[in-house]
Amino acid sequence: MDQLIYFDYAATTPVKHEAVDAMVDALRQFGNPSSRYEYARQAACRVKEDRVTIARAFGCSPAELYFTSCGTESDNWAIRRGVELGRRRGRHIVTTAIEHAAVLETCKDLERQGCEVTYLKPDKAGRITVEQLTAALRPDTVLVSMMLVNNETGVILPVADCVKAVKAFDPAILFHCDAVQGFLKTPDPLARLGADLVAVSGHKVGAPKGVGALYIKKGVRLRPLLTGGGQEDGLRSGTEATAQIAGFAAAVRANAADPGRLERAAAIKEYTLAKLKETLPKLEVISAGDAPHICAVTLPGYKSEVVVRVLGDQGVCVSSGSACHKGKPSHVFAAMNLPKPWLDGALRLSFSPDSTKEEADALVSALTDAAGRLFTTLS
Ligand code: PLP
Repeated sequence: MDQLIYFDYAATTPVKHEAVDAMVDALRQFGNPSSRYEYARQAACRVKEDRVTIARAFGCSPAELYFTSCGTESDNWAIRRGVELGRRRGRHIVTTAIEHAAVLETCKDLERQGCEVTYLKPDKAGRITVEQLTAALRPDTVLVSMMLVNNETGVILPVADCVKAVKAFDPAILFHCDAVQGFLKTPDPLARLGADLVAVSGHKVGAPKGVGALYIKKGVRLRPLLTGGGQEDGLRSGTEATAQIAGFAAAVRANAADPGRLERAAAIKEYTLAKLKETLPKLEVISAGDAPHICAVTLPGYKSEVVVRVLGDQGVCVSSGSACHKGKPSHVFAAMNLPKPWLDGALRLSFSPDSTKEEADALVSALTDAAGRLFTTLS
């Protein structure tokens, strides 16, 4: 395979060279931040500075930001311990049917433990409204979990307005937001959403895999999910992943130093969609996406897993939905009530600000070629 044509940046991103350099430094400086001698104190200092960097991008205080191993851990911590915090008042959770598995499977597990969960259904465009959420709130609701950017459609959910509505209904209800696809992809810092708990992940923003963070708003007394040595102010035990954290902070700095990145990602997505529509008239757009980096299209009647494989054999990487589905049809597109042929042929395309027109042209030509060669259930 000569060249990789990568349009799956919502699955994961290449590690930025700034992150690699910072990680190599941190790997060489191997001290345990909890040790008491000078050498280790340097490692602790680094983690402290890295926390400040990421907190600045969040628009929060460093004391409100806790490092975890990934977005999934952050979501689990927020939801499981958030529900526990409200257990005297009730056991009702409101979430959406289009959340990532990290949220949905956690909610399902809590259902098995006696919680009741309301799953808000999206409309045909993949949207959820404030009114829908308000109508689902009950006196025994203890937690709302709503994502910021859907990972398959790129739709931005009205999180800030939903937080206001929830807090007006009952300020004691905790609001958790899975912002894994929204961090550094939307113009406003995440703390401005007003949510109590916000989960993010490093590998979606040019950092390595294996690091994430949970924002816990000042005053929210969440218990730890992991207990042990008392790192992260006693709230997330486990020796700090100093290299991963250094890579995360360096990637955040590199993003912050590139203010044009959102416009560039949106422009290349627009170019690709226009080219696809012009070249492949049978292709339909499921969602052009509000977020700059994600959109969903379909080749009705084709099998998207086959299309993904055929493209993959030529070094063209796209997704038939979230990388976590492992061949199952996307629950997001199913919840949007798409017709079966649309569901079958659904593809997610996701972009980087550095994606080029040449790469987009190569994607369009590979997809056109695949559509010409493969059979459809409609033909
Ligand atoms: N939430 C969303 C919306 C995601 O897209 C993902 C990853 O694809 C996750 C959570 C899980 O993040 P991680 O891979 O860091 O566990």
